[in-house]
Amino acid sequence: MNQKIKTYNLPVEGMTCASCVSRVEKSLNKIEGVSDISVNLATEKVSFSINKEKVSLSDISRVIEDSGYRIILPPATDVKSTETDEEIYLSHKDSYRASLKKEFIIALIFSVPVMVISMLSMTDWFMQWSPLSMDGINKILFVLATPVMFYSGRRFFSIAFRLAKKFTSDMNTLVAIGTGTAYTYSSIAVLFPEILSITFAHEHIYFDTATTIITLILLGRLLEAGAKAKTSSAIQNLIGLQPKTAKVIKDGHEADVPINQLTEGDLIIVRPGEKIPVDGVVISGSSYVDESMITGESIPVLKTSGNKVTGGTINKTGSFQFKATAVGSETLISHIIRLIEKAQASKAPIQNLVDKIASVFVPIVIVISALTFVYWYLFGGLSFTSSMLNFIAVLVIACPCALGLATPTAIMVGTGLGASNGVLIKNARSLQQAVKISTVVLDKTGTITEGTPQVVNVVTLNGFDEKELLSFAASAEKLSEHPYADAIVKYAKQKSIHFEDPESFNSETGLGLKAVIKDKVVVIGNDKMMINNSIQVSFAEKEIHQLTSQAVTPIYISVDGKLAGLIGIADKIKSSAKEAINKLKSQNINVVMLTGDNEITAKAIAQQAGIDTVIANLLPHQKAEAVKKLQSEGKIVAMVGDGINDAPALAQADVSIAPGTGTDIAMETADITLMSGDLTGIVKAIRLSKKTITAIKQNLFWAFIYNVIGIPVAALGLLNPMFAAAAMALSSVSVVSNSLRLKGSRI
Ligand code: ADP
Ligand code: MG
Repeated sequence: MNQKIKTYNLPVEGMTCASCVSRVEKSLNKIEGVSDISVNLATEKVSFSINKEKVSLSDISRVIEDSGYRIILPPATDVKSTETDEEIYLSHKDSYRASLKKEFIIALIFSVPVMVISMLSMTDWFMQWSPLSMDGINKILFVLATPVMFYSGRRFFSIAFRLAKKFTSDMNTLVAIGTGTAYTYSSIAVLFPEILSITFAHEHIYFDTATTIITLILLGRLLEAGAKAKTSSAIQNLIGLQPKTAKVIKDGHEADVPINQLTEGDLIIVRPGEKIPVDGVVISGSSYVDESMITGESIPVLKTSGNKVTGGTINKTGSFQFKATAVGSETLISHIIRLIEKAQASKAPIQNLVDKIASVFVPIVIVISALTFVYWYLFGGLSFTSSMLNFIAVLVIACPCALGLATPTAIMVGTGLGASNGVLIKNARSLQQAVKISTVVLDKTGTITEGTPQVVNVVTLNGFDEKELLSFAASAEKLSEHPYADAIVKYAKQKSIHFEDPESFNSETGLGLKAVIKDKVVVIGNDKMMINNSIQVSFAEKEIHQLTSQAVTPIYISVDGKLAGLIGIADKIKSSAKEAINKLKSQNINVVMLTGDNEITAKAIAQQAGIDTVIANLLPHQKAEAVKKLQSEGKIVAMVGDGINDAPALAQADVSIAPGTGTDIAMETADITLMSGDLTGIVKAIRLSKKTITAIKQNLFWAFIYNVIGIPVAALGLLNPMFAAAAMALSSVSVVSNSLRLKGSRI
């Protein structure tokens, strides 16, 4: 890791539409030393990396402020601060909503009387009864409308003004020009009628238009902010999972310790019904623990001495003590929160297109509205005021606010829904891509099988005895990381075999290993490893076949060039494998198994799991080639593997999936992690992708349809600006609500 590069993900205030996104991005892009910029409208956050030697956070803040927005910087590192980044982010959002609410309420209080009085003043009976003349009424309207413009509406004007200074614009510009025109015109008409040489015919004053637009747009934003807060509830739920304190045992005494003061190695006691505060390993006691919030698996899991427990999960039945192994930002839950935040801040490919459209949208709209005015006033035979109303209607109906919300809100809800089902999606790209998967490639060990292989058989050959054979095998395997090695070492320990220290050791990934033990050359591995070392195995064909035909993997052990025996290793197929594979096949998805194991064992396992296509005897780089070959046949390939020797294949695949056991580091590398290791998560991921993409398409439709129909209708002079404002508020709300609908769906 480069120490000079630091990555941030910070909230930005004032981003209200899709064109804001590209503006913030562009302004950051111009600064040297800033990279990996991603701006997200749904989270209202910008993430970027900076080179500390070239730029500082305050430079970034200044540039963003110059372009019309405000970035919320993290507080200077304060040791006493107990707030997490997530909490700061949430409280920032709350304050934004609170100020929106205040502005909206003020707007409402003043614009209702403006509306009522304006309507009444159009009736003859009111004017007969009224003690005030039209002139007097209009002055009251002016007084009532002014606070709406200058208090409630100031955010539109100040942003529009700042942008105008830089010759740019966004949807705030549209609202500001629209309402500003109506207000200014009406004010001049009331205060200095001689300038416009107007005699007061009542239809000429439009304070109600200006105030109603501001009130409705604020209402839309308020509803939108409320709904947006709900889209990020997955993260809030995860933050809420962590209890505030833990019961720590120190010098035999139990004490309540705030969770942020825990350290690794603390001994913590958990009673029935309590939340487990941080990650750790059970030392004593046992209990069933509900881990559904992490794995999506609803059946409680038995935890006894030596088992790992995860912070945020709920202890059900018994009490136990555990030693903390990860605290603070190192816990699994903190990891997951960071991953989801990153995924939600990432951009789906479809979003780039939307952003491009939005960035040219506002200037085009301003041109169309100006043309509308010119046409109606000069050639259409309308009065100045009626032409002006059409001009305002076009500006207001064209706000591209819903457009900018369409994709990111759906991505946020989609990733959140995945997380609560144990499917951790790490980027928007793979969420968009997963629906196109036509082939699922599964690794055998640890993916289709449990990954906890066991020795089931020992065959001695060439006059070696079992103790001697196991001693050679286990002494060498002790130094290997392979799951088969663990199985052999464990078995040897059970049989109280004597271990030697190898004089040399050399592992060959995907093949086996070579070691020198007591001056003897020991070669262990698969048949290929034997061929590579010119070791005769054909005489043991019968014994080999007996193992492989029963889905048992034979490990060959040779000593000084002679085959000394075979160790049969079996790995149980995951209980979820068959169901998941059947479901994939029923959706016309090709299922392929890849393995470095021998073909006969592999085929026997594939048959048990219901897989027809098997490619065996592969080295790690050949697994990647196999994926590439499938891709060259036009298939969109998802690779599912445990990430250790499958890394090249995972990197090659269109979507990479790790069947994480919940604590695996593979979680960091793959596009999607199945938290429980349950393979039906693949089906869920594909279904989730389909639902999210459908929601995005519906959203884009709803966002565009208002603009596409609204703009020509407004230009033709058939749309009252107040209805245009209502329609715009409605379009944002309908887009966000449609995304939220996804939250309730089952995957
Ligand atoms: P998989 O594709 O099933 O994950 P690997 O690529 O890890 O398998 O290994 C392929 C084969 O190489 C194994 O089936 C085994 O026969 C052999 N092998 C690899 N490492 C070892 C080892 N440490 N001890 C014995 N055999 C090994
Ligand atoms: Mg493997």
